[in-house]
Amino acid sequence: MNRPVKTGPAELARQILHQSDGPLTRQLVRTPGGFGLGQVPERLAPDATTTAVCGFCSTGCGLEVHLKGGAAINLSPARDYPVNIGMACPKGWEALAPLRAKDRGTVPLLRNAHGELAPVSWPVALDTFTQRMKAIQKKHGPASVAFLSTGQIPTEEMALLGALTKFGMGMVHGDGNTRQCMATAVVAYKQAFGFDAPPYSYRDFEESDVLVFVGANPCIAHPILWERVCKNSHSPEIIVVDPRRTETAMAATQHLALAPKSDLALFYGIAKCLIERGYLDQEFIARSVSGFEAFAAHVADYDLAATSEATGLAPDVIERVVDTIGRGKRVSFWWTMGVNQSHEGVRLAQALINLALITGNIGRPGTGANSITGQCNAMGSRLFSNTTNLLGGHDFGNPDHRAKIANILQIDESLIQQEDGLDYDQIMERIMAGKIKALWVVATNPAHSWINQADAQDILSRLEFLVVQDMYTSTETATRAHLYLPAAGWGEKEGTFINSERRISLLKKVARAPGEALADFYIFKLIADAWGCGDMFRGWSSPEAAFEIMRELSRGQPCDITGITGYDMLDDRRGVQWPLKEGEDVEVKSERRLFEDGHFFHSDGRARLLFEAPRAVPEPTDEKYPFVLLSGRGSSSQWHTQTRTGKSAVLRKLYPSEPYVEVSPVDASKLELQPNEWVTVESRRGKYRARVHVTHVVRPGQVFVPMHYPTANLLTLAAFDPYSRQPSYKHCAVRLEKIDAFG
Ligand code: SF4
Repeated sequence: MNRPVKTGPAELARQILHQSDGPLTRQLVRTPGGFGLGQVPERLAPDATTTAVCGFCSTGCGLEVHLKGGAAINLSPARDYPVNIGMACPKGWEALAPLRAKDRGTVPLLRNAHGELAPVSWPVALDTFTQRMKAIQKKHGPASVAFLSTGQIPTEEMALLGALTKFGMGMVHGDGNTRQCMATAVVAYKQAFGFDAPPYSYRDFEESDVLVFVGANPCIAHPILWERVCKNSHSPEIIVVDPRRTETAMAATQHLALAPKSDLALFYGIAKCLIERGYLDQEFIARSVSGFEAFAAHVADYDLAATSEATGLAPDVIERVVDTIGRGKRVSFWWTMGVNQSHEGVRLAQALINLALITGNIGRPGTGANSITGQCNAMGSRLFSNTTNLLGGHDFGNPDHRAKIANILQIDESLIQQEDGLDYDQIMERIMAGKIKALWVVATNPAHSWINQADAQDILSRLEFLVVQDMYTSTETATRAHLYLPAAGWGEKEGTFINSERRISLLKKVARAPGEALADFYIFKLIADAWGCGDMFRGWSSPEAAFEIMRELSRGQPCDITGITGYDMLDDRRGVQWPLKEGEDVEVKSERRLFEDGHFFHSDGRARLLFEAPRAVPEPTDEKYPFVLLSGRGSSSQWHTQTRTGKSAVLRKLYPSEPYVEVSPVDASKLELQPNEWVTVESRRGKYRARVHVTHVVRPGQVFVPMHYPTANLLTLAAFDPYSRQPSYKHCAVRLEKIDAFG
């Protein structure tokens, strides 16, 4: 879909709007330039069924979208898709509902002299964006403007945004909301394996004889992956490490309800026992692992008694886990946010990687140290967003990498910065300090999701110019914008997502965006032209053209995708996992894992054992705030800040509409709390009212709140892992106060 570009932003806006109009059937057509506008093909009649990958979570389920009269009216899970094999969770079934919401943005909005957001044309919006951003840069320097992106948009859009901002607009700092979910896994893998490389395929869920889930509740958070566990025919041992008796813990064969944030001590204690009992793969360690002697010396202090004391687990419980792992033939370790969102998440993730490495449980079916991703395209963000690493998993600090990228993009090498930009929390700090004056927020909602919300809202209010580009005008961040740009959502545009098992899948346009809302890709193109750097991105003429560029960017990298010939191949093969080098091919439905040859990405080919003494929790409980606050996903029907899932009447029926807090029966009795009564949950930073849910799921001294309600982050503490700068959402001190009948 090559779009002629001859004049300024007004003409370009007209052209893009014109081309975005028209019957849906015109937009589903496969043309030589990619999915896009053209003649209606006979195979895609107005009543056709087409496919698209789901746009909520990182599982990446294949969906079949059913059209009637040229409109997407329904969908069902794809039975031939290797990820979900005919299954979908409630969010997937309801994926079309958020597109029809009343608060969709249909035109750009600009805050007027009365402080109200009022409609303006695209040319006015683009002109305002450009003038104000440039004026701030001129006065305060290029680093005075920054962007925050997302794991929810296609990789092609992330790559274009990252290239535009950093190479075209001279921005130095930009990060994404993937900092909030995956940064820890990224750093852990990079340091241990030499590249950010989740090693597994989903088939490993079915092939393990021991599965260890840490800080993960796949029954709720990744239900289709849990379905894959249920297909395991080896009667596996399922070990769940979680302070809370989650739905997954209830289904486990062993649940280790350890003291919150004692995981690192537990895994070092397990490692010591594995070493003592000879449960090691000596040959694998000798061939593929470095640092074993130092690691063995480090864990020598974590004897059974000390580990039991640190974790609150009985010695025989720990010993049983050690023997289960040690005797297992195919042991896999899985983690999600309970590990990543920790003040010591990187070392914790590496403690699991260490267990897999010393027992040789990697690179074979049913094994691996496996981080399950969160958002549908967190993996795309990790490789191609050009935020904290250079496009294609390269390093800003590496001159060879800079030269390679400059050559592929045909840009002056001096445009590529020589060091990483700031991380999300550091960008927020710079705003607070008055050094960053303008922020461009794309498809994320920091006024709700960033840790310590009151602080976050104060920080956002200090900006001279806040631009929010989003599907909805109503998010907590969009309502604060000076300029709002209406964006198309999932299903209204094309591109690719990369899921947790590294599978690149195709998103197709199955619905028209409302009004003048545009795909983020074309908003970026418009801004490039308005800024005056459009020529730099002429080759990025469509998402599929951008994918061609991404292929080249990946060449020679561990994530090499030069063997993916284009969108056709992704469609035909039902997604393709990276890597796939030029000349290689894969069978339909193939599921591949990394490191089968025992060779890792460090220059010596070895994986590294990395470790460190546990750190004290940043905010321990005390007399005034006696409860540990745990947080997490509430149900399979809710997604993050509920910006989209809250739009579905079906999904809303599947979870409580009011904030609630889980309290143990012991504590409820002490505080004389009755089920469903209102209580105040308060931390040192804020408080809110929630209904009491009395349950044995949490232990005495702990309470749990779901993350989806806007109030949850009033409580959380802005503490971060020192290596990944990922926020520690999962632990702080709170108190509960009964609200009397008249309160
Ligand atoms: S499990 Fe994730 S990818 Fe699959 S349908 Fe549900 S939200 Fe979509």
